[in-house]
Amino acid sequence: MADKAGLISLRNVTRHFTSGERDVHALENLSLEIQLGEFVAVMGPSGCGKSTLMHLLAGLDSPTSGEIFVDGLALHAADDAALTDYRRHRLGVVFQFFNLLPTMSVIENVAFPLLLQGVSYAASEERARELLHRVGMQERATHFVHQLSGGEQQRTAIARALVHRPSLLIADEPTGNLDSQSADKVMQVLSSVGSDKLATLIVVTHSEEVARAASRRITMRDGKIVT
Ligand code: ADP
Ligand code: MG
Repeated sequence: MADKAGLISLRNVTRHFTSGERDVHALENLSLEIQLGEFVAVMGPSGCGKSTLMHLLAGLDSPTSGEIFVDGLALHAADDAALTDYRRHRLGVVFQFFNLLPTMSVIENVAFPLLLQGVSYAASEERARELLHRVGMQERATHFVHQLSGGEQQRTAIARALVHRPSLLIADEPTGNLDSQSADKVMQVLSSVGSDKLATLIVVTHSEEVARAASRRITMRDGKIVT
């Protein structure tokens, strides 16, 4: 079998949950290929399986059956050590809730993934500053999380998700918790990340504007891809 380098590949992926008496088919026999470098918008109604798909791609959950490869790594068969390494080095995630550390400043939050990798404090901070510039947060570097608006927190979270140069950035409804003006700004930042090919970008969104900026749109319904 080919090692699927340069590709995100899902083969007949199923994810079933047992919820009380009910068997929920969150993903049903889903197959999909995404080239590294693509900017993909994932759309579809609530409950269609978008977050389940993102959790699988992030290595936070395993499929009930099927295969998932990310640039040659078989996520469905990977052990905990390999998954930790994947998340720490190759993946960036942005969720609806920003999960910034409240006791750290903005720049410390952004630098943190590099410090975890053992990068020096000075080099981590320099790289963090570059990313803060990119997301328009350079003037807030020394502020604390509670001093930021929701949109500023999310832009900080995007900077943090990119600081270690991941090959894949996953964003699951990153503006779901924001007012429309903050949401627009966050989406502009994300779209520029996708367009500039800083990372392969997969973003779950209800925004037509983002879908237009994306190089490809995937629509899901009932655990399947419909277009
Ligand atoms: P979306 O993100 O598109 O709104 P989800 O992937 O969150 O959809 O959910 C898809 C389906 O799977 C829903 O019916 C949801 O209730 C169910 N589901 C998701 N996670 C779990 C879980 N941990 N346990 C039971 N059911 C779940
Ligand atoms: Mg969801």
